[in-house]
Amino acid sequence: MPSQSEPRPSIVDLRSDTVTRPTPEMRRAMAEAEVGDDVYGEDPTVNRLEHRAAKIFGREAALFVPSGTMGNQIAIKVHTRPGQEIICEERAHIFNYEMAMLAHFSGCLARPVPALDGILTWDRVERAIAPKIYYRAQTGLISLENTHNMAGGTVYPAEVFNDICERAHQAGLPVHLDGARIFNAATALGKPVAQISGKADSVMFCLSKGLGAPVGSLLVGSRAFIDQARVYRKSLGGGMRQAGVLAAAGLIALEKMPARLAEDHANAKFVAAGLAQIPGLRLDASKVITNILVFNVAGTGMTSFDICKKLAEHGVLASGIDSEHIRMVTHMDVDRAGCTRALEAVQAMCGHGRRVGAAD
Ligand SMILES: *Cc1c(COP(=O)(O)O)cnc(C)c1O
Repeated sequence: MPSQSEPRPSIVDLRSDTVTRPTPEMRRAMAEAEVGDDVYGEDPTVNRLEHRAAKIFGREAALFVPSGTMGNQIAIKVHTRPGQEIICEERAHIFNYEMAMLAHFSGCLARPVPALDGILTWDRVERAIAPKIYYRAQTGLISLENTHNMAGGTVYPAEVFNDICERAHQAGLPVHLDGARIFNAATALGKPVAQISGKADSVMFCLSKGLGAPVGSLLVGSRAFIDQARVYRKSLGGGMRQAGVLAAAGLIALEKMPARLAEDHANAKFVAAGLAQIPGLRLDASKVITNILVFNVAGTGMTSFDICKKLAEHGVLASGIDSEHIRMVTHMDVDRAGCTRALEAVQAMCGHGRRVGAAD
């Protein structure tokens, strides 16, 4: 342990991009934000953020919500009726990490479907749609996740995504997009977010992850959808009064931060290439195309939790997602030097020989 007088070595925190802190520019904008009561629709900064989000996504309207979870669950509530099923990939955030709110809030069941790299295709979705028989619970919604978090930040090819949306609509089913990291997907595909998400009936995306805002997510969709979503936001206690102080940071996140996500992706690829060289670790570095990497550690003889604990002692934080898998997420508060430190720490624990970063 360093003594109190020594500067503490900085922590390399790769647990999630949610740990990003607001930039000095965001803090200034927050301090100076013009505000009003948003429950009365009178916060000019929130109104501006919602207007800009709708515009960027090519939609009629948008709603600022405190978290991605609230945004997803409000969307699901608007699209469904109690007693219906929701088709999603089996590792979906809405199914595994949102406190069973599909059941609790919307009265629906998940119909989870496994898919390679978390990317569903229409044939898999179609097989999961309930037959139209009165004694079977009916499918009410298809929910897709782009990028797919637990599958390792994987991205829907635009054609696959559009195909699911078009055929779902032909079958009379709405599609919600959990686009927490849709700007990462857009960066990886080199296409604007409106183009890769426009066929979904609603989209939720987060300002508080790679885009660096301290708090907040947005829902976008039709005017009628957002009007209903606003009612459910209030029901859940999500009416936030002078939320302009948050929206001010959100506006900077939305307008300026997408342009730097490519740097996070380059860092993730660098880490993935290094990890792939370490004996006992398994990952396909070619599949790392955004800012998330998930790798298997079974070959090391240690559990992911043991490894994460030891890494933390070296000032490197990562998440054990189950006993065999570790997730690392790159973001703006970890630079290339931090990534190299993380790799060296993993190598010291699991591997031998080759110097990390030697052939960057
Ligand atoms: C983080 C995340 C959410 C939820 O966002 P919170 O703001 O943490 O509630 C939803 N979906 C995915 C895929 C996420 O990664």
